[in-house]
Amino acid sequence: MKKITFLIFASTLMVIHACSQNTKVAEKAIQETEIASAPVATKTTDNQPLEAYPKQIEKVEKTVDEWREILTAEEYRILREEGTERAFTGKYWDNKKKGTYYCSGCGLALFESNTKFKSGTGWPSFYQPIKEEYVTSKTDNKFGWNRTEVLCARCDGHLGHVFDDGPAPTGLRYCINGNILTFEENE
Ligand SMILES: [Zn+2]
Repeated sequence: MKKITFLIFASTLMVIHACSQNTKVAEKAIQETEIASAPVATKTTDNQPLEAYPKQIEKVEKTVDEWREILTAEEYRILREEGTERAFTGKYWDNKKKGTYYCSGCGLALFESNTKFKSGTGWPSFYQPIKEEYVTSKTDNKFGWNRTEVLCARCDGHLGHVFDDGPAPTGLRYCINGNILTFEENE
């Protein structure tokens, strides 16, 4: 039993380590698309269409039971329990299509494909969110690492972490769990 616990702990550390690695690849970041036309954010799990990129976002608050009802087990683990998917196993890390990435918890448009870059980490990586106001951050000292956690500003769901080794123009690398994103391709 102890051995299993150790293995889980060790693999968790490996995941975190991988996500924290400075990637030289980021310097050679390729913008996968050029200009994305601004799509309308119509998709939300609350069935309440959002206007395109509103400045003020209405908070989504739910009880544990309500979240469990609308999220898959994997989405719940990541969004509500600060989980992390294993590198190269989640959705979208290798997605090169043009479109918009929405929060699977509340439907808020979070990232555009034209800010996605190849980080080599195995997680979808972006150099900026659609709007600064759409994500919040907080210090995460778990496992003794000083990292900055990124959350969805609308539902406070855990998205991933942000590092300062990203490409121009921001120098930031938003390392996001693909399994809590919903991608919509641009027409
Ligand atoms: Zn959200």
